[in-house]
Amino acid sequence: MAELEQLPYDPERPVRIADAPAERTQGVAMTGFLDASTFAGSWFDGTWRAASGEAYDDRNPATGEVLFSVGAASPADVAEACKVAAAAQPGWAALPAEERAGVLRRAAELFDTHNDEILQWVHRETGAAAGFGGFNIHIAGDELREAADLAGHLGEEHEFPSGEGVRNVARRIPLGVVGVISPWNAPLILSSRSVAPALALGNAVVLKPDPNSPVCGGLVFARLLEEAGLPAGVLCVVPGGADAGEALVEDPNVKMISFTGSTAVGRRVGEIAGRTLKKVALELGGNSPLVILDDADLDAAASNGAWGSFLHQGQICMATSRHLVHSSIAEEYAAKIAEKAAHLPVGDPTGEVALGPLINEKQLSRVRRIVDESVAKGARVVAGGGNDELFFEPTVLVGVTPGMPAFDEEIFGPVVAITTFETDDEAVELANDTEYGLSAAVITADVGRGQAIAERIHSGIVHVNDQTVNDETRIPFGGVGASGNASRFGTLSNVEEFTQWRWMTVKDEPARYPF
Ligand code: NAD
Repeated sequence: MAELEQLPYDPERPVRIADAPAERTQGVAMTGFLDASTFAGSWFDGTWRAASGEAYDDRNPATGEVLFSVGAASPADVAEACKVAAAAQPGWAALPAEERAGVLRRAAELFDTHNDEILQWVHRETGAAAGFGGFNIHIAGDELREAADLAGHLGEEHEFPSGEGVRNVARRIPLGVVGVISPWNAPLILSSRSVAPALALGNAVVLKPDPNSPVCGGLVFARLLEEAGLPAGVLCVVPGGADAGEALVEDPNVKMISFTGSTAVGRRVGEIAGRTLKKVALELGGNSPLVILDDADLDAAASNGAWGSFLHQGQICMATSRHLVHSSIAEEYAAKIAEKAAHLPVGDPTGEVALGPLINEKQLSRVRRIVDESVAKGARVVAGGGNDELFFEPTVLVGVTPGMPAFDEEIFGPVVAITTFETDDEAVELANDTEYGLSAAVITADVGRGQAIAERIHSGIVHVNDQTVNDETRIPFGGVGASGNASRFGTLSNVEEFTQWRWMTVKDEPARYPF
């Protein structure tokens, strides 16, 4: 995560909400490859088609500026997209692997070519500051490149020994049309990690981005793959809300749903997928613990803790939610992390800031409620706690206990919630006191002790001597419990996720049976 190490931190400079100079946000051209006039009011099926749902404004959360008018796809548009994708898919799967890979590699090159323009959209549409925005671009490009290398797995055969005159094989075939639904918080990564491998492995894709990130979660991929020569219809992009999402999950032409988002919506998607007998991958929310043992280097621990909770305003599924700190060091840890919080600049993400705005009013009221209710129940604010419109101060709460929303709920905001423990067993008990299980981490001078604790925490991802926010394209990424249904992203698992096996036997002569 090298490019993330450049966030501004100025020990001399007190935090000033929204202090980036306004002129930095004005006049940055987003006219070229991603000129909004190309896709305003439209959904995509290889051509740009007028959307029949209600149009809405895509807004910059930092400034309120209207970026463009989004054409929301109606359920009828989604049905049309799924039909088009189903018709295009067999031809795409029949192409030689190198041709499919070539399209993805060209898309990755275009991604690099238009990097600056895409980054402007990331800043303006999602509120991501430079470090996290750059990281999104880096990972999404890698997703396209890594996926290209998977194309040759389609059609691979596993031959089983059989009698003479019998060929007995399992062959890897595509699923058909894969529906991808993504959230707004890291849309480039969270769409590309499904779209790219699904396409590489011979599927067609209908992609529905979140209404807050129609470009970064969807339309950018339509543009990239259109220019890269993807045959028409193989990728359809349908910007829209919950109605478009449900239409996609219900659609009979769709054979798999790859969903990333909240646990509440994931449960609903899983129900529909169960009823309609679709394969479903659910990557959901988290409430990730960071355990700081009594032997930890406190400067390193506080740096890890601040990073895990404040990066991208805490709006990351793996964000460090609960800081479980040994009682003997908790006060010093809180003071160190509060000192950092007080000097991280918050403001327009196109400026020199560490934190941008929260995505919208709904997210602001969620974070506000979690902080206020936790304080009402006895937690104490030792840094931050305030907000100026969508700019929320990096906040540190101490005295957080189970039963407070800052402990029990996914915060999805820049809030460090500190809970103390006395023994390693108690640390494990607190870490597992959640229905979620996405990421977890332990910081200690004793690696063996850290690893023993890590083994006992229920999560799909765990790190010793690191914080909870990490992502690599190759590793199998996913959660347990309320964080997901055991699907995994990453090169190691993508081939299994986005294909199915077909058993075929071929006998030289018809079989003979007793009757
Ligand atoms: P959300 O569940 O509200 O929305 C996610 C997507 O689902 C959006 O595209 C939305 O339009 C769509 N949607 C909403 N209702 C739908 C319905 N009834 N049927 C089909 N689709 C529907 O999520 P959010 O609050 O916008 O995103 C944040 C959540 O996503 C957090 O909980 C976060 O932890 C989670 N997340 C998880 C991961 C992961 O890898 N596990 C990654 C990023 C975010």
